Parts: sequence; C-alpha cells; structure tokens
Amino acid sequence: MLPLVGGIEAGGTKFVCAVGTGPEDIRDEVRFPTTTPAETIGQAISFFQEQQAKHGELQAMGIGSFGPVDPNPQSPDYGKITTTPKPGWQNADFVGKMKEAFPVPTGFDTDVNGAALGEHKWGAGKGLDTFLYFTIGTGIGGGGLVNGKLMHGLIHPEMGHIQMPRDPEKDPYKGKCPYHGDCFEGLAAGPAIEERWKMSAKSLPPEHPAWDLEAYYIATAMRDFICTISPQRLILGGGVMDQEHLFPMIHKKVLESLNGYVQSPAILDNIEEYIVPPALGNQAGIAGAFALAQLAME
Ligand code: ADP
Ligand code: ZN
Repeated sequence: MLPLVGGIEAGGTKFVCAVGTGPEDIRDEVRFPTTTPAETIGQAISFFQEQQAKHGELQAMGIGSFGPVDPNPQSPDYGKITTTPKPGWQNADFVGKMKEAFPVPTGFDTDVNGAALGEHKWGAGKGLDTFLYFTIGTGIGGGGLVNGKLMHGLIHPEMGHIQMPRDPEKDPYKGKCPYHGDCFEGLAAGPAIEERWKMSAKSLPPEHPAWDLEAYYIATAMRDFICTISPQRLILGGGVMDQEHLFPMIHKKVLESLNGYVQSPAILDNIEEYIVPPALGNQAGIAGAFALAQLAME
C-alpha cells in the first residue's frame, strides 16, 4: 500500500491542502485564501491534524510553494519563503512551523518544481528526464527536471524574470514586475494582461489582440528555454493557459522564431505534443506536493 502523505500547494492567493497517495487517490482536500503566515500555516496544520484523526498518521509532508524560497537543506534559511513581495511572508519559516506540528520527512520546493515532479510521476512528463513546467497565472514561474533531477543550482530558477524584447510601439505597457518592469512575468502574467487591457483576462474574447501579444511573449520565452535547456517537452499551466486557443498560436510562433535551427522531429513534426498543457490539469499542483512528500521519504 502506498504511504498516506500530506500535500500543500501554497499559492500567493490561495492554499490547497490535501491528503492522499496520488492524484487518483485524494482522500480529502481543502482550500483557503493566503493571509498571514501565522493564520494560513495554522489553518493548514489544523486541517492535517483533523485528517490524521480520520485517516491515521501521515508518513510525509510535501510543500510546493510560491517564492522565492530556500529549498537547500544545507542552508540556514532552508524551508523559508525568502524575499517575496507578498506582505508578511518575508522570511516566513514554513517548513519549521510544519515540522513542529508534524515531525515527518518533509519535501519543500517551488510550486513549479513540485508540479513538474507530479507531471513526471503521473502526467505529461512521464518517461522524460529533461523537461520544464511553467505556470502562467498571478505570476510566472518555471521549474523542472534536468537529467532526471529537479533543478536547483544556486537557489532555484526564476524563469519568469528573464528579459523580454518589448517593442514600445507595439506594446507601450511598461510591465508590472516590481523588480524589472517588463520582464516575462511583468508583461505576460495575468495581472499584466488585465492592467494593459483594463479588462479581466477571463473575459477577453479569443479574437482580441491581447492574445496574439501574449502568445508572442510566451513563444519568445519558450524559444530561449529550448535553446538553453534543450527540454524534451514544455508543459504550460496556470490560469492564463486555460485559454486553450493560446496553444496553437504559441506552437506557430515558436516554430517561426526557431526558424528550423533546432533539428528535432519532436519540434519540427510534433510541436502539438512538445508544448502541452499539464496532463493532470488543475491537479498538477497538489499532485506535485504529494510527489515532493514521496521524494522526501526516499
Ligand atoms: P495562482 O497564480 O494564484 O496560482 P492562477 O494560476 O489561477 O492562480 O492565476 C490567476 C491569474 O490568471 C489571474 O490573475 C487571472 O488574470 C488569470 N486567469 C485565471 N483564469 C483565467 C482564464 N480562464 N483565462 C485567462 N486568464 C485567467
Ligand atoms: Zn521580474
């Protein structure tokens, strides 16, 4: 029998907590808004305590978190959310608080590394050893596996903050990132779309020019990551990618932008299976948290 674990998909807007063994076996799930660390982590702890009373001891805990985070177990700041602009959360000791309540193996990583690990185990990353997962939602983040291992390096990748070639004639919007203005996240995350077009992204019709521009920024970023990481697949999730019509636009623009240079049939003949939505859909985050818990037990 697979071990019962707890998972937290910790977003800047909401937390999702669940217990289970995988995406097909979620015993119970709860969501609540992200307020202060004390209140929100406290709510997570209460939920898991109730769950333990119902289902028995949790064997491990997995947390995929908004960031930046410190995911290096060797570091004095391991387990904390570090320089986030989110008020109250700077240096919040997330893992420390969880471990006080649940002294079990605990996996802690970025939300996107977590989601990538979940897709590797159960979804669109199965059988691959090098692929990337992006979320395009309130912010933009990217993570994934390289040669079979989650990417960390110095801290962890911040793929949403690469510089974009913005043409001020075509796009006078200066961008929303508090650090860089018109970086990828500053130009293409949900809140940037909404501020630029003064409309909720959900209600922009498919033929609106917003989407051509959005597809252009996403495709440009994907070309850069194809050329730097050589991923076997790119998985694009997050609220903005619920606009399914973006996929064919991105496919076309990535092919145009690469201009035949990367000679792989995976790209040239099969781009629809190369840049894809998460196979786990909106379960990718919580499945990822389970996968992080399971990895912590190994
Ligand atoms: P989070 O980033 O908090 O995990 P989401 O990935 O759902 O949550 O991202 C929320 C953002 O995505 C919102 O700011 C909104 O602009 C955008 N968004 C959500 N749903 C849609 C949709 N159906 N179409 C376009 N944009 C969306
Ligand atoms: Zn930025």
